[in-house]
Amino acid sequence: FPSRLPKVGTTVFTVMSELAGQHQAINLGQGFPDFPCDRDLISEVNTAMMSDRNQYPPMIGISELRHGISDKISTLYGHHYDPDSEITITAGGTQGIMTAILSCVSPGDEVIIIEPAYDSYRPSIDLAGGTTIAVSLITNRDQHNQVDSYAIPWEAIASAISTKTRLIIINTPHNPTGMVWQADDLDRLAQLLQNTNALVLSDEVYEHMVYDGLCHQSVARHPALASRSFLISSFGKTYHVTGWKVGYVAAPANMMREFRKIHQFNVFTVNTPMQYGISSYLKEASHYLELAAFYQTKRAYFQAGLKKTKFKLLPAPGTYFQCVDYTGLEIPQSTLSEFDFCTWLTKIVGVAAIPVSTFYDKPIESGVIRFCFAKQEQTPSNALQRLQTL
Ligand code: GLN
Repeated sequence: FPSRLPKVGTTVFTVMSELAGQHQAINLGQGFPDFPCDRDLISEVNTAMMSDRNQYPPMIGISELRHGISDKISTLYGHHYDPDSEITITAGGTQGIMTAILSCVSPGDEVIIIEPAYDSYRPSIDLAGGTTIAVSLITNRDQHNQVDSYAIPWEAIASAISTKTRLIIINTPHNPTGMVWQADDLDRLAQLLQNTNALVLSDEVYEHMVYDGLCHQSVARHPALASRSFLISSFGKTYHVTGWKVGYVAAPANMMREFRKIHQFNVFTVNTPMQYGISSYLKEASHYLELAAFYQTKRAYFQAGLKKTKFKLLPAPGTYFQCVDYTGLEIPQSTLSEFDFCTWLTKIVGVAAIPVSTFYDKPIESGVIRFCFAKQEQTPSNALQRLQTL
């Protein structure tokens, strides 16, 4: 029968994790921590289960958790979301993203995405019947023609905006490049959208992983954006429990009303004991405030090891990803496509990574791959030993 998503295969994260498994490679591809989460968090969930909190929670999520999220957002970013009408608990960030897109995009609408872009955006837009307008991050290069840094393509974004634009999707800290938006970037976006009806989907699942003294710029810090944005976040990322699939969406009540119409028939609701466990754990702010320092140490360790190789490190101010340019390696494989390079790296060198080209609809080969450093020390240490042989 005709496919609704003819161009979609299996997500690259699954492909690379499976390849890593087949070849016993060290998996620095798919983004997930390989260390255990806090036992206190598990014990909170356990308490909820043992207290028989195992039936359906409210469709929008338990009140305690929605209140906790509302308090956290207003303390950190200064915007008050009403816990009852403006916050919904989702089955992870990805469900929040798809449901948000389905709730506002109709056939004929245009949605602007900025590539490289997380791979779920485009299929979600396709299912809604929208048209994706992709603009590319500006890729700056050094004198050796290696990738140096990325910049937001403001001119391209400005010319992509039209009367048909229903939604623009932004992502900071950015997967895969680690790029972090600054306050004036949000100002600029707000200015561009001022006289339009466009909404914003702000994917902020790495909000607590921002380094070097930088500050996460949430749309919730910016009233003009908050009033037209779906803000997406994920406890899986923040609490090292990607497999629990619990996240949330915050948005103005009129947008959230439409969101919930779909959410109720899509997942209906999200598992009860995890919501109770997370809501207790959320009360202790250090659990998320200390995350940046925790990951900055891991990043420093990984970067120090990579500096002993001929990979070129790209700036990594946010997320738990480090991108590198491999075109300077003095080996025949340095001219391979990113996908082929990652396949070779996984099978022969024994380290899995993600080709950044797969974050583009029409793969742009820039010789850049993404490593995840959310790992216990032994993992990058072993991986670095292998990478240092190249
Ligand atoms: N967000 C994670 C990544 O970028 C993976 C999520 C997934 O596997 N779907 O690696």
